[in-house]
Amino acid sequence: MSSIADNLGSVTRRIQKATLQAGRKPGSVSLLAVSKTRSAQELREAVSAGQLAFGESYLQEALDKIAELRDLTAIDWHFIGPVQSNKTRQIASAFSWVHSVDRLKVARRLSEQRETGLPPLNICLQVNINNEPSKSGCRPDELPELASQVSQLPGLRLRGLMAIPDPGQTESALKESFRNLANLLKELQLRYPEAGPLDTLSMGMSGDLETAIAEGATCVRIGTAIFGERSQKS
Ligand SMILES: *Cc1c(COP(=O)(O)O)cnc(C)c1O
Repeated sequence: MSSIADNLGSVTRRIQKATLQAGRKPGSVSLLAVSKTRSAQELREAVSAGQLAFGESYLQEALDKIAELRDLTAIDWHFIGPVQSNKTRQIASAFSWVHSVDRLKVARRLSEQRETGLPPLNICLQVNINNEPSKSGCRPDELPELASQVSQLPGLRLRGLMAIPDPGQTESALKESFRNLANLLKELQLRYPEAGPLDTLSMGMSGDLETAIAEGATCVRIGTAIFGERSQKS
């Protein structure tokens, strides 16, 4: 079995190769290690190999690991799971990014509950890019209004968009989904230049990071290719 450090090396090479092939600037795509269901010890191994950005989906599990790893002060914690509005206070104090904001109510609470001593919480709006029923994410047509309102909240800094495309699509439909998300970000950049740098396109996972990078991803969220198959919860 290969080690976490080896896997991080191969994922980094995949990212570099895809970035080059897309004719994009080296270093323009960052790696978020998705560590849901992984132990604090596995995260320590990844940190020893130089990985500092981690994405978590389950709040209680994440808070336990954050407490256990508080000696590693350089870790940057990203929340990427569905946000329940009664859990916003803990998210606002423990994380520096939330990739999965899809409604104003949650954004307002995160903004109000972000402690004033901390820098604003970085936010990506999650878009239900394939209009799948009962899936998280706002509808593409709701996005301009939501972005405009979120960009005005003082405790937040709107950074961009996130999507989890339907995994059952053909390769070309998947490519088009990523392209659609990239175009939505471009529209927002033109429409709300005052929103500040909307510089983040959070898309691409272990199986499709090359396609996502070809379509403009700036942050890929990778779990399995770093830590191996997850046993239960996905
Ligand atoms: C689990 C998860 C990932 C990582 O998926 P892998 O296929 O294991 O790389 C990425 N993004 C989100 C939102 C996830 O929940």
